[in-house]
Amino acid sequence: MKKFFKAFFLTEIVKGMALTLKYMFFMPRVTINYPNEKGPISPRFRGEHALRRYPNGEERCIACKLCEAICPAQAITIEAEPREDGSRRTTRYDIDMTKCIYCGLCQEACPVDAIVEGPNFEFATETREELYYNKDKLLDNGDRWEAQIAANLAADAPYR
Ligand code: SF4
Ligand code: SF4
Repeated sequence: MKKFFKAFFLTEIVKGMALTLKYMFFMPRVTINYPNEKGPISPRFRGEHALRRYPNGEERCIACKLCEAICPAQAITIEAEPREDGSRRTTRYDIDMTKCIYCGLCQEACPVDAIVEGPNFEFATETREELYYNKDKLLDNGDRWEAQIAANLAADAPYR
């Protein structure tokens, strides 16, 4: 009899509709209007790579090549020469982003926080060539994202 009433009065459908209406009008939205709205990202998020500078504009990278050595995908290529002042700097710093697996080991290996994976995740391209990053591109990324990168590193520092 109970089964008959349930089937006759369509109670399951009514319950389902009530739940739908509750979520439509009375519950907070869980979706966001991307790309106009963006969700929060962890300070440890591993996004697009960037090469950082010191506040005086000098490159942080000292061309030790630890990042190149540790990269499991062999995506990093570095060439270096001493400058006239005796400091050692890269003359070439390339990352093949089509090989990169975003493991973060380059960032972990770097003794001077020069190469980092920044917060940017919107760098899709239409061609493979655009994903062959050179030093200029990486330094530009560093300049563009420095404030957020520095804040993320500071937020993560107590846990390291
Ligand atoms: S994130 Fe990993 S795979 Fe990508 S460049 Fe760094 S070390 Fe290589
Ligand atoms: S980015 Fe860091 S680890 Fe890589 S060569 Fe420069 S200083 Fe060394």
